[in-house]
Amino acid sequence: MGTQDFPLFLSRESREVLLEVRVLAGEELAPIAGAGPAGRVNRPLLEALGAHGVLQRIFPADLGGQVSGEVSAVVLCLLREGLAGGSTAAETAFALQGLGSYPIIQAGSDEVRRRWIPAVARGEAVAAFALTEPDAGSDAASLSLVAERVDGGYRLSGAKKWISNAPDADIYSVFGRTTEGAGSRGVTAFALPRETKGVGGESLDLLAPHAIGTLELDGAFVPDDHVLGEVDGGFAVAMRTLDLFRPSVGAFAVGMSQAALDVTIEHAGARESFGKALREFQAVSQQLAEMAVRTKAARLLVYEAAAAYDAGERVTRAAAMAKLYATEAAQAVVDMAIQIHGARALERGHLLEHLYRDVRATRIYEGTSEIQREIITRELYR
Ligand SMILES: Cc1cc2nc3c(=O)[nH]c(=O)nc-3n(C[C@H](O)[C@H](O)[C@H](O)COP(=O)(O)OP(=O)(O)OC[C@H]3O[C@@H](n4cnc5c(N)ncnc54)[C@H](O)[C@@H]3O)c2cc1C
Repeated sequence: MGTQDFPLFLSRESREVLLEVRVLAGEELAPIAGAGPAGRVNRPLLEALGAHGVLQRIFPADLGGQVSGEVSAVVLCLLREGLAGGSTAAETAFALQGLGSYPIIQAGSDEVRRRWIPAVARGEAVAAFALTEPDAGSDAASLSLVAERVDGGYRLSGAKKWISNAPDADIYSVFGRTTEGAGSRGVTAFALPRETKGVGGESLDLLAPHAIGTLELDGAFVPDDHVLGEVDGGFAVAMRTLDLFRPSVGAFAVGMSQAALDVTIEHAGARESFGKALREFQAVSQQLAEMAVRTKAARLLVYEAAAAYDAGERVTRAAAMAKLYATEAAQAVVDMAIQIHGARALERGHLLEHLYRDVRATRIYEGTSEIQREIITRELYR
């Protein structure tokens, strides 16, 4: 990535952080990612992310991390973009630790935070964020997993589906219905350890660079001190978590775009056809320019949304724009990269073959592209 592609409003150190983790991911983490068990959580990869001090950069200093004060969305984006440029599996392993544990960091009791967060920050405990249900995806406020009030806590019964890191995660931030018919105002967040009786689930065979599965709860008991935030206030806990993570999904996409662009610049300069380099054909050079512009535009939207989050501004519209544009752009950029490479890009194990598979889900999770457009338009009329 040339200096001219890096947002001017970010510091030189920021660029160095990004490049440093990109190299680390490509050289050290990618081989560990490649050796992991298919479809299950790669624990050695998480431990390596902890051993290299990458995870700690998004966790509070008093809970085993290095952050004093609030987690920075810009730092989160730099780390995600950098890791994505070297290994999508390392990137998602990293991001899911944050997504799964942020509800606990922001709203958990001291005891629950101390029990789980330092282990998550070291990569020794695996976290997951369990909101989606078979019948409640985009319309998450319609979720129906039952949280029944009992003596000393709640009993959770029902199913979550398409939960990253399930069923292997050690600690779940799970969202259940505490008040019938109250929509988003009747949802409560809980910290749920996997070892709890009544917790089950199975893994799903789905196109993603990380483990994903179901979480099935059969009267699993959670004590009162495992409620995250207010009873019936769990939807706000979920939304605050997504406010932080949404621009960073865009950063993941930008990292993939940049990796696709870099490899294509090289290929189009070296590969000859009809006696000249591919880049000399206008049809190819036009595509290269398009890939570069979309990658840059996505990066600007992402870091502007992240910087606004760090400045304490309301980021609903900016985060939705960043997530929407960056993920759609990455899909297009990776596709153009494959076209310019021809057949070799589709060989199993080629970087672009990986990216083609891994980029797809980003347009679906943490709010589909259509939902981001809904949010943007709603904000235009606010
Ligand atoms: C790889 C991967 C990882 C995931 N990880 C997690 C996780 O860790 N935790 C978690 O809780 N969930 C996770 N999910 C689930 C994800 O959040 C949902 O898939 C997503 O919210 C969409 O829900 P759905 O798949 O049920 O689609 P649906 O909500 O059924 O949507 C289907 C289609 O209808 C469209 N649509 C729906 N409503 C509207 C509307 N109002 N306007 C316009 N179009 C609309 C959608 O945009 C989409 O195109 C993951 C999904 C994937 C693919």
